[in-house]
Amino acid sequence: MTTVEQTSSVRPARRAAVTNPGHGDIFTDHMFSMLWSPAEGWHQPEFGQLQNLSIHPGMIGLHYGQVAFEGLKAHRRADGSMVVFRPREHARRFQTSTSRLAMPELPTDIFMSAVNQLVAADQEWLSDHPAHSLYLRPLMFATDESLMLRPSENYRFLLMAFVAGGFFGDRVDTVSVLISRDYCRAIPGGTGNVKVAGNYAPSFVAQRQAQEAGCHQVVWLDAIERRWVEEMGGMNLFFVRSTGTGNEVVTPQLTGSLLPGVTRDALLTMAERLGYRTREERISVEQWRQECAEGTISEVFACGTAAVVTPVGTVRDPAGGDWTVGDGLPGPVTMTLRRTLMDLHHGLARDTEGWLHPVPTEQ
Ligand SMILES: *Cc1c(COP(=O)(O)O)cnc(C)c1O
Repeated sequence: MTTVEQTSSVRPARRAAVTNPGHGDIFTDHMFSMLWSPAEGWHQPEFGQLQNLSIHPGMIGLHYGQVAFEGLKAHRRADGSMVVFRPREHARRFQTSTSRLAMPELPTDIFMSAVNQLVAADQEWLSDHPAHSLYLRPLMFATDESLMLRPSENYRFLLMAFVAGGFFGDRVDTVSVLISRDYCRAIPGGTGNVKVAGNYAPSFVAQRQAQEAGCHQVVWLDAIERRWVEEMGGMNLFFVRSTGTGNEVVTPQLTGSLLPGVTRDALLTMAERLGYRTREERISVEQWRQECAEGTISEVFACGTAAVVTPVGTVRDPAGGDWTVGDGLPGPVTMTLRRTLMDLHHGLARDTEGWLHPVPTEQ
């Protein structure tokens, strides 16, 4: 194991990162790497400086997409300590994702040890700015040098990190969404329920259409009936219904083509604790539009590790016009859930569910 000394050249970048981190471009200094082979299993753990890799042009992962990843965050608590949000759940989902692509599973203890090492080594990058965090990116890919159409025999696991600001900037504004009528993201029996690289490139043309239509994000419908709302391709969706007897927090049920978000799961529990009724059920586009018109659906928000909780203000549907959710501004239930989740991340609320993993650091 090697730990590389800080060089003075990284310090200005680190300071710049703290004021304006953006989302994905400012990497921290280190990475963890480990290899898998049929004979040795997981072996050769290395911790060192983030650096370029040398790969063969015929590497299987590059050609046939045997690549899976995760995304989780480390936060700085008010007392200065660092915590990672639900890392074991992310380790488990990573195992599900890699298995789906006929890749080996990374044991949870290796995942946890890599996370601990990286966050401890790069702790200077994690400021106490409430909107900032370290986004950790586990990645596994197939390394065999072969263009035979077959699963690789050898793999590499990497863990790297970047400094994250708000995904949509540091202010909480509502975002606008475009319902994709030309493309679909996931099919039953496909890979929509796992975090594999091949799910994301096909969504870029739809994301471009959204931007051309003046929207921030795409909403995906189910592939069979093109009617049921699924998710946003990097975020899950929630709907807030006002009923005579209080607020109901509703999210599309996991049908096998939605990604089971760790944030989605956490918010279902947190909503219950806050006294909202929760439901996982199918919701159609027509229902979404109609219930917004009637005022039954008063708020909609997106959630995910990157997006945290982000209110949705307007919807464009090329097949049925545009509509506004509530008054188009962030709603009270959305903002309560957002605040509750962020307070938990930053140690301002009690971790009743045991979701925060404290990162050990040597004094
Ligand atoms: C990562 C991701 C999410 C959000 O999952 P979290 O575990 O909450 O970060 C939602 N949808 C897709 C397609 C994703 O890749």
